[in-house]
Amino acid sequence: SFTNYYRDSIAEIDLSAIKYNIEQLKKRLKGGTGIYAVVKADAYGHGDIQVARAALDAGAKGLAVALLDEAVKLRQAGIESPILVMGWTRPKDAVVAAEHAISLTVFQEEWLEQVEGLSFSPPLRLHLKIDTGMGRVGIRTPEEMERILKIMGRQSAFKLEAVFTHFATADEANTEYFETQQKRFEELFSHFKRNWPENVEIHTSNSATSMRFPERMDHFVRFGISMYGLYPSPVVKKEKPIDLNPAFQLKSRLVHVKKLEAGESISYGATYTTEKDEWIGTIPLGYADGWIRKLQGMDVLVDGKRHPIVGRICMDQFMICLDQEYPIGTKVTLIGKQGEEEISADEVADHLDTINYEIPCMISQRVPRVFR
Ligand code: PLP
Repeated sequence: SFTNYYRDSIAEIDLSAIKYNIEQLKKRLKGGTGIYAVVKADAYGHGDIQVARAALDAGAKGLAVALLDEAVKLRQAGIESPILVMGWTRPKDAVVAAEHAISLTVFQEEWLEQVEGLSFSPPLRLHLKIDTGMGRVGIRTPEEMERILKIMGRQSAFKLEAVFTHFATADEANTEYFETQQKRFEELFSHFKRNWPENVEIHTSNSATSMRFPERMDHFVRFGISMYGLYPSPVVKKEKPIDLNPAFQLKSRLVHVKKLEAGESISYGATYTTEKDEWIGTIPLGYADGWIRKLQGMDVLVDGKRHPIVGRICMDQFMICLDQEYPIGTKVTLIGKQGEEEISADEVADHLDTINYEIPCMISQRVPRVFR
């Protein structure tokens, strides 16, 4: 994030909302279930270091990311909590993970064989991933598990900390597939227990499962989207198992306001033409900021009221139709609240026919993250 910036278009991140959301989940989980804050992808576009610190302050026990690069960045910022890399890491980079006390995900025999040849100090921390139906990464059979545990058992430089899986449909009304995955996990975990004498921790759940089935959670949950104040799906939003506060707002200011007569056109392709005298405002944010061209037709908030985006969104600017004249510098909210009106990440996602996860992630690094 920027220490200094010279623009009025910012993503405002409310760290107290992050803390509030963690506290709400903690109240719902049974005692003894800890939280890994999922801060991959720059904390879903919110700013990884600041969110990680807020989450740990609020009682998260560890952090989860997708890539070793993301984990090392957190360590270099001085964060000392457990950090898990949930994706695949190049075998040779396991040395870097061990050096920084970062836990890696293991699920391939050939990966372990390559890693086994390296030397570690301190030991390499590993979490074993089981694929119970996501079909992405993880071991699927008892035979694979036995082969992996055999290698793991003969290497004292490996420390197996946990076993985990990931649910594919935990945010849907129909829980049949979730139950199938749960059952497969239980079967494979029993097999694990028969082959591995030491205790390990279990973490199976994302936001949806943690909030919906708290009584079933084990040692840890991996709390992602709902830590940011968004529900994983419309189904879960309707069920509202816990109250959430969105942490992400996207804000700008009017940089130009003019009155156009009827019959004047706006932006590339002249796709919008005024039908009467209209006040047109210019906002200094565009598709290079992640406010993509498909958002033409969305509203933004000015003076607590909705105003439509008119004409094509440009790389760095777009135009809106105003209900009256406003001064240069008037506040504009693209995601967030003004008075009684709100434009949520869910609404933006609906307009783009996608999921809310994608919205903060798509706001580019050119937009400074400002924390409060
Ligand atoms: N666990 C894994 C393995 C993930 O890939 C993710 C995110 O995609 C999460 C947990 C967090 O999921 P959510 O953001 O739905 O809470």
